[in-house]
Amino acid sequence: MSDRRPSAGFSTKFEEFQGEVDSHEALYKYSIGQTDEFWGRCAMSRLSWTQPPKTVNASDLNSGEIKWFQDGKLNVCYNCVDRHLPSHADKPALIWERDDSSKSRKVTYRELHEYICKFANVLKANGVQKGDRVAIYLPVGLQGAAAMLACARIGAVHSVIFTGFSAEALSHRIDDADCKLLLAQDYTSRGGKTINLKQIVIDAANKSKSLKKTLVYSEADNQDGWLDSFTDLSKQIEDASSECPIVEMNAEDPLFLLYTSGSTGKPKGLVHTSAGYLLYAQMTVKHVFDLEPSDVFACVADIGWITGHTYVVYGPLANGATTLCFDSHPLFPNAGRYWETVAKYHVTQFYGAPTAYRMLLRLGNEFVKSHDLSSLRVIGSVGEPINVAAWTWLHEIVGNSKCDIVDTWWQTETGGNLLTPRPSNQGAEIKPGMAMRQFYGIEVAICDPGTGKEIAWEAGQKIEGALCFKKPWPGMARTIYGNHKRFLETYYNPYPGMYFSGDGAVRDEDGYVTITGRMDDVINISGHRLGTAEIEDVLNSHLSVSETAVIGIPHEIKGESAVAFSILKEKADLNQENVRSELIQLVRGRLAKFAAPEKIYFVTGLPKTRSGKIMRRILRKISAGQIDEIGDVTTLADPSVVQLIIQKVVGAK
Ligand code: ATP
Ligand code: MG
Repeated sequence: MSDRRPSAGFSTKFEEFQGEVDSHEALYKYSIGQTDEFWGRCAMSRLSWTQPPKTVNASDLNSGEIKWFQDGKLNVCYNCVDRHLPSHADKPALIWERDDSSKSRKVTYRELHEYICKFANVLKANGVQKGDRVAIYLPVGLQGAAAMLACARIGAVHSVIFTGFSAEALSHRIDDADCKLLLAQDYTSRGGKTINLKQIVIDAANKSKSLKKTLVYSEADNQDGWLDSFTDLSKQIEDASSECPIVEMNAEDPLFLLYTSGSTGKPKGLVHTSAGYLLYAQMTVKHVFDLEPSDVFACVADIGWITGHTYVVYGPLANGATTLCFDSHPLFPNAGRYWETVAKYHVTQFYGAPTAYRMLLRLGNEFVKSHDLSSLRVIGSVGEPINVAAWTWLHEIVGNSKCDIVDTWWQTETGGNLLTPRPSNQGAEIKPGMAMRQFYGIEVAICDPGTGKEIAWEAGQKIEGALCFKKPWPGMARTIYGNHKRFLETYYNPYPGMYFSGDGAVRDEDGYVTITGRMDDVINISGHRLGTAEIEDVLNSHLSVSETAVIGIPHEIKGESAVAFSILKEKADLNQENVRSELIQLVRGRLAKFAAPEKIYFVTGLPKTRSGKIMRRILRKISAGQIDEIGDVTTLADPSVVQLIIQKVVGAK
């Protein structure tokens, strides 16, 4: 396998700069040299303003004050829906692929507009006003997306909480953001199972102190009368008027707040504002994914995460494309569900997470090969580092060696993709795995955690350190709701004058950035610094391994040593001892002798957040025998995994 792969054709789609620049490199240079002009011109041509802004950027990374287009006014819902009506009211805005695919449906821009207007009128009738926070506990689909856009239409601030969360996690987030209203649902269906959300809604509504009202969308009839104590959202929407004027918003008025995944600690409620966020969503989806209005864009994230906000709802709709809401499970009814969906709707871009890709890879290629995926042009990955084996599988098997694979690095805080192989084809190539470039207007700085200073980079040089950014961009978060101090301490104080991501990265000889993992996950073995992702990548390349988490534990002589937790593929004749020694040899050969794990545990599951990320801090605590100090596990998808791992580790001692 060659180290580099050419990317498929990509034309620069910047009408604003036609005749001025003719290559990605030239435009990138312009975006970095004349940053305010770049964003200003894009903001004018891509967004519809009720009052165009005169100022572009008034941000200061030293003080953590972020402001874009601050004297401009617009409405985000208008930009995502209303403005497309004159040209394509009858085109599907949203395809809702439901768990039971026979219930799936397409919703045109005209229908979506009408539904949002009704929804917004219901919110108003229930006392919601501009600036009020509204909690949304709805799955991805028509109601969830419309709830977000209805809030945007009337200037309410939404806080979407993933429907996998418990009553405690839900009520905590409701109170933390001082939400006045909760929009919820009685049942949902995932992987063929009916999930009863009623008790969670009842408990959360009872527990939450800030709530004034709960509106419930009913998927079933109200036979047991449980709905009687709540407001029936479905009925009210039906009866509401389908006309609802937009509320003009200041560019810097909050659009939503959203909690991080909680991989590293207590989730942070990040606040995103209106114009800057929308512009960044519009631009990244268009240029990273080569999105055309005629495309069917399938981001399979839930709206409970930032990926669902930017790449299911706001980004694709701001471009007037068709967005696909995937409201099911990748293994239901079998491991071909994603690919069946792609074939059914002629999906052009598919955007998912490494955790799902790794799971599907383990189950064999026939689930992919039995579907016609020829409509696909770009396949994206987000959430965690994508290992080379999964990248190659996406490229060769899913993409039939014809699609661009874009590993996109970003965070809840960043609003949209910052590092990605696209946009570019101008002779440039995509490296398998985690190699990434900067999006327009984005300038990386790799910093030394010891001195707190930037490490200078030049072509031909490879440097490693803390991943920071030295220029503000419109899509960045403005604060942590109710805790600006934590915001400054987390992102702005560690490296003055820069935004600090919390992740570590390598910048290679060609300027490509590779994420090494969280800074907290860097291991120092005998003075050698290694990202956990690097060791995991090697272990995952073994044919019998599907997924691995590596952590560092204290070691008397080496300072730290690596410990691995691997999930093996389902094979009957597997000799674990042989695999273990092969794995150690693999790391020694591919990385370094010192990097070989001190211990390798074969486990059946890893502690993951509900967004599919590995919580390594839990593995660190278990390995250190500090079982009582495991801490907050409310964001864990399956807490029973923890007990199984404890048994494995304790049993092996
Ligand atoms: P918390 O901040 O509460 O610990 P979190 O960081 O997991 O949770 P998110 O904002 O959902 O919450 O995730 C962003 C993080 O996900 C990034 O900081 C990075 O560590 C990881 N990540 C996202 N995309 C990629 C990618 N393409 N490659 C490597 N890591 C990624
Ligand atoms: Mg984070």
